[in-house]
Amino acid sequence: MEVLGQLGFGSRWRDLLCGLLTSSSTQVLLNGTPGKVIHHRRGLRQGDPLSPMLFILVMDVLNWMITRASEAELFQPLSRRPLQHRISPYADDVALFLRPTAADISLSLRILNLFGDASGLKTNVQKSNVLPIHCSEENMGLVQNLLPCEVLEFPCRYLGLPLSTRKLTRGQFQPIIDRIADQLPGWKADLMTRAGRVVMVQHVLTAMMVYLAMAIDLPPWAIKAIDKIRRAFIWRGRKEANGGHCLIAWPKVCRSKELGGLGISDLKALGVALRVRWPWLRKTEPHKPWASLPLQTSKEVECLLMMAVVTEVGDGANTLFWKDNWLDGKSIQSLAPSLSASVSRGRANRRSVKDALDNDLWLEDIQGEITIDALWEYLELWDIINAVELQQGIPDKHIWRLSSSGQYTAQSAYEAQFQGAIRFEPYARIWKTWAPPKCRFFMWLVAHNQCWTADRLARRGLPHPARCPLCDQEEENIQHLLIGCVFARHFWYSILHYASLSVLAPQPSDIALNDWWRKVENCVDSEVHKGLNSIIILGAWTIWRHRNDCVFNGASPRLGTALVLAKEEALLWSLARAKGLPPARYQRGGLGLVFGLL
Ligand SMILES: [Zn+2]
Repeated sequence: MEVLGQLGFGSRWRDLLCGLLTSSSTQVLLNGTPGKVIHHRRGLRQGDPLSPMLFILVMDVLNWMITRASEAELFQPLSRRPLQHRISPYADDVALFLRPTAADISLSLRILNLFGDASGLKTNVQKSNVLPIHCSEENMGLVQNLLPCEVLEFPCRYLGLPLSTRKLTRGQFQPIIDRIADQLPGWKADLMTRAGRVVMVQHVLTAMMVYLAMAIDLPPWAIKAIDKIRRAFIWRGRKEANGGHCLIAWPKVCRSKELGGLGISDLKALGVALRVRWPWLRKTEPHKPWASLPLQTSKEVECLLMMAVVTEVGDGANTLFWKDNWLDGKSIQSLAPSLSASVSRGRANRRSVKDALDNDLWLEDIQGEITIDALWEYLELWDIINAVELQQGIPDKHIWRLSSSGQYTAQSAYEAQFQGAIRFEPYARIWKTWAPPKCRFFMWLVAHNQCWTADRLARRGLPHPARCPLCDQEEENIQHLLIGCVFARHFWYSILHYASLSVLAPQPSDIALNDWWRKVENCVDSEVHKGLNSIIILGAWTIWRHRNDCVFNGASPRLGTALVLAKEEALLWSLARAKGLPPARYQRGGLGLVFGLL
């Protein structure tokens, strides 16, 4: 309560808390009968939503004690640079950074004991670990004497992440990848459709990577290994798959659905998008405790940051003179590339606009010989810089130009990396239409011309039907099967006839499903749109199933059979989509009509 008082909580709030703490009680349920009431008198029940909040407040006291001791110079400084970080508490996980001297260790033990006595949160030294960073043997002996706990080596786990002073080796990374692979439901995969496995991969496997990728730059081989698992699971439901199982190249699968993929995240792009957050936060919130630590960023992250952030200069203290986009949304590096080449990287990373403009310090950054181009740039820059006036007392404003709010979002950072990619034309027709996921997945394969029809089988030298199994006249390929075939044309005519849309039925001149689909979609009003698209997916799916029946189960091609198949399927679809959709609007000219008439 005193702690809460010190932190500025009012007496009313503290009284409420007091009430909670003293009045809480527990009953034990024994064979369905509640037992005697046990009063706690102190503390809350386990799992109470309030307890983590109170815990954080209590741990803050420890943080404060250590910081005070450090400020009073009771500890030896950690390094020559002003490193402010001595303690990193997260719930009950506390990391303390100490020099290996007897005085420092005993002082920190004393503080921990003091804190334990006051709060009841005693530290169990036996259960703690020591991790030496650049320690000599002699120092280690001293540490072992004073701290009777286990000595570990890096990498260790902190907050679920591998923590290391060096780059992680392959052997250290492998367990993480294995753990991801273990998340896949082995036998259940056979019961899932590919569309279901796509959801599994994106929302379980890839989601697991987010936390890791935010902190660690995944090495290319690790990305490859994880992709192998993801790919094999989607196409085959196993941990292993060869090229033949994968119908569409992996980089394409990893595009968003708008760009012709399946919306699986590309791990490299995802990693870059997630890690841009750190330099962005350092710019916008320079008072974060870690902001003074060196930040390792890859080239891609830096490029994305340069592209995404523009700065409105206030007093110029938090803007980099050479690198940030602060002159009308442009950086000096882009305005004067030759001149910037003679500025060292270290200087460019440190020189703020404020420092640069004070007494024209930016001139000192230019070193080495200057070319004619650089000289011209220098003269131009001189005029521009002299026109700049800083506004004292107004902080610099950094704007993330990829999102409408001007704030960083991982999604905008991710999407920016695919700018300029070609849009997938049938996107809305396939993915925005109501149909079972497996059927839409099939239509996606059709749009990429990647179904196992005779032409593809022949190219691979696999056994294949000599002619189209439905008309027995021409060679089979997916476009012929779904639209060019005489059988398919009759089928389309019948099924569209039921919906009074027979005028739209494909003509002999229509040879590609997608072209025909686009054409007929433009012929109907928007109201019939959705229903028509569902019918077309239903039709294509039915033809495909009927074809497979003929090829694998020895059935003979019959229009009547195919229509019955379509009817059964339509019944299921309308049952599935009946929920929550206004039936009247969709049934007119839509699936409901087909179902009603068939
Ligand atoms: Zn045919």
